[in-house]
Amino acid sequence: MDILQSWRRVLASDDNRRRYDAYIERWESRIACLLERDLTRATGTPDAALPLSGIPFAVKDNIAVRDFHLTCGSKILQNLVSPYTATAVKRLEAAGARVIGKTNLDEFGMGSSTDNSALQRSNNPWNASAVCGGSSGGSAAVVAAGLVPFALGSDTGGSVRQPASFCGCFGLKPTWGSVSRFGLVAYASSLEVIGVLARDVDTVETVYDLMAGADDLDQSSLARPAAPPAREIRTVGVLRGTAGLAAPIEAACRNTIDALKQSGCEIVELELPMLEYVVPAYYTIATAEASANLARYTGIRYGLRAAVDEGQEQMVAATRNAGFGDEVKLRILLGTYVLRSGFQDQYYVRAQKIRTAIRNAFDAAFQQADVILSPVYPTQAFVRGAGELSPFAQKLADRFTASANLAGIPAFAFPTGVADGLPVGLQFMGPPFAEHRLFDAVRRLPDVAPLMRPDGYDEGWRS
Ligand code: GLN
Repeated sequence: MDILQSWRRVLASDDNRRRYDAYIERWESRIACLLERDLTRATGTPDAALPLSGIPFAVKDNIAVRDFHLTCGSKILQNLVSPYTATAVKRLEAAGARVIGKTNLDEFGMGSSTDNSALQRSNNPWNASAVCGGSSGGSAAVVAAGLVPFALGSDTGGSVRQPASFCGCFGLKPTWGSVSRFGLVAYASSLEVIGVLARDVDTVETVYDLMAGADDLDQSSLARPAAPPAREIRTVGVLRGTAGLAAPIEAACRNTIDALKQSGCEIVELELPMLEYVVPAYYTIATAEASANLARYTGIRYGLRAAVDEGQEQMVAATRNAGFGDEVKLRILLGTYVLRSGFQDQYYVRAQKIRTAIRNAFDAAFQQADVILSPVYPTQAFVRGAGELSPFAQKLADRFTASANLAGIPAFAFPTGVADGLPVGLQFMGPPFAEHRLFDAVRRLPDVAPLMRPDGYDEGWRS
């Protein structure tokens, strides 16, 4: 594969240049090295035997890559350059892949459109008036636009799968703990995990296999079990009572169920009444953890510092006021509220109990079904303006994705087709460490997961 020549084409194309609004930072010198056929300088160790030798990839800008910025889409970290590299990225680099850019996101991963980025706006490659989803929207856009074969994102409540669906690519949220979080900037630690976005199942599988595994630098990381769940898929669970889906999503569910039946799967209807409480439980736990995790941004050690003379407390307040966007402030306030003594039992503790009940409900469901098929989001990518969902409606719409984060289970979003010029996607969920079962489930659906290309798409990284 002559990626050097391909990059020349990518850079020469105005169309693709416009799509760079998905990047917060690109490593021009590294791309230039590739263009000059100077693989030694570009990759350090050009070893064609490595599985991803010379393959460029992009990384969401809340994952640390040494010498790249680490903005988290926030003014408070706008000028921060990372002194170290996340373990997940290191493992991919050891396999020969090279980071060429950092991608836009909702500030600190909080949102569903990437429009919550304080730094720039990124558009959906399928329709520039539509959002690319979030919070890993930039990663989804660069993959969908063909600028890189894969990108990393993070998924706390759906942030890999929802933008993957909005932009027509595949997106994996692995089992919690299966990929080291060292170098991932914390938003809600007990829910989040680094995931992969790519244009085909095989790439997702390769990248996941390379990234996963225990890491001394993250004590919550888990080794893969010696005997992971079998890959076999005989029964597929579908959720009863998924009202309120847009017509193209509903149609995709029907068609996918038919295709699964034709491939020999038995469909079982599942009753999961606990799912009604996913959104309140998710936003209680996520904001509680965010209020603790984001307390480190004080202007004292790193990041923005407001010029204030009165004293430390005023300086910290002014820094946070100037550095955080509205959504981040809202979530910190909500988080401190649900953790206040006196309210804790009513909100936080209750949410944790609901979380346990949701996990138990999934455990029981996987006794009946090998995988569960579910929508990712009730709508396709929304168009800015009249078609846009309100911030509150966006949060309610997280009900299908955040359930997997609360339960810690893997979930894999895949494209099923295009309707009204925008992609449609669904997801499979499985028991912990059943990622390969999810890949195989999607492989049973060759007809409903076509390789889609937005207009003007140029798979420039590949000649
Ligand atoms: N929409 C979710 C939120 O706003 C997704 C977050 C995520 O996965 N990072 O919290």
